[in-house]
Amino acid sequence: MSADSSLSKVTVNPAVDGSELIRFDKVTKRFGANTVLDALDFTVSSGKHVTLIGPSGSGKTTILRLLMTLARPDEGTIRVGGEYLTHEERGGRLVPAGEKHVREVRKNIGMVFQQFNLFPNMKVMRNITEAPVHVLGLSADEAEERARGLLELVGLTEHADKFPTQLSGGQQQRVAIARALAMRPQVLLLDEVTSALDPELVAGVLDVLRDIARTTDITMLCVTHEMNFARDISDDVLMFDAGRVIESGPPEKIFNDPDQERTRQFLSAVL
Ligand code: ADP
Repeated sequence: MSADSSLSKVTVNPAVDGSELIRFDKVTKRFGANTVLDALDFTVSSGKHVTLIGPSGSGKTTILRLLMTLARPDEGTIRVGGEYLTHEERGGRLVPAGEKHVREVRKNIGMVFQQFNLFPNMKVMRNITEAPVHVLGLSADEAEERARGLLELVGLTEHADKFPTQLSGGQQQRVAIARALAMRPQVLLLDEVTSALDPELVAGVLDVLRDIARTTDITMLCVTHEMNFARDISDDVLMFDAGRVIESGPPEKIFNDPDQERTRQFLSAVL
């Protein structure tokens, strides 16, 4: 696969200017008595690749789910592209966001899950064109042209007419990546995207993501246990523990010379 040649034909992110794209302000999320995120603040600038690392249960996936509005914070606000995700401004006041507002802001966000979540009854092509046609209002021809470029990007041109069950897990995950990019989101959320794969299929998916990170300017927010991948693609690494960012910085710093003992312990257990 030559991702470089195909990428030149594929627009994955229309507007990147280095400005703040994601902002969490004092976000708290509880499940019963369990405070999963504790007054969390963080920002991601447009075009950056940010990786969330940390022990299981430290709240990383919850952050992605909040951004996808699959969960709502108990306190605090989340903004994407300057727009409140959880609230809308009416008459100078912030009120809880309505469905229509949430749908609009969420159009800017694409997500790839651990379990590929493809539509099982649709062929690969239709999996990718469905949302661009029904949500963005593209014509079938426009959506198929976009999908063909993306299938080339993820190395699956030959598989457009297959059903998901006819593909390997790694191929299905690459379709899921193409499907997310077909909406031209401003940010791509990646939640442990290789952890459900057989070991021999992991590298192919990570290579596609490395190519996308290297050759496009899409913003990525990524939860992963693949530390070499995190080291390769990240501009910034955020180390989580118990719902807080205990340390953040460029990968060279976090992986080679962390300030926190907790980070050192975590890395020595996973590396
Ligand atoms: P991580 O991604 O870092 O492993 P998660 O964000 O998945 O962590 O989970 C953080 C904590 O929140 C865990 O203790 C988990 O059990 C809890 N949790 C997550 N989702 C739910 C839910 N829907 N109901 C109850 N507890 C949840």
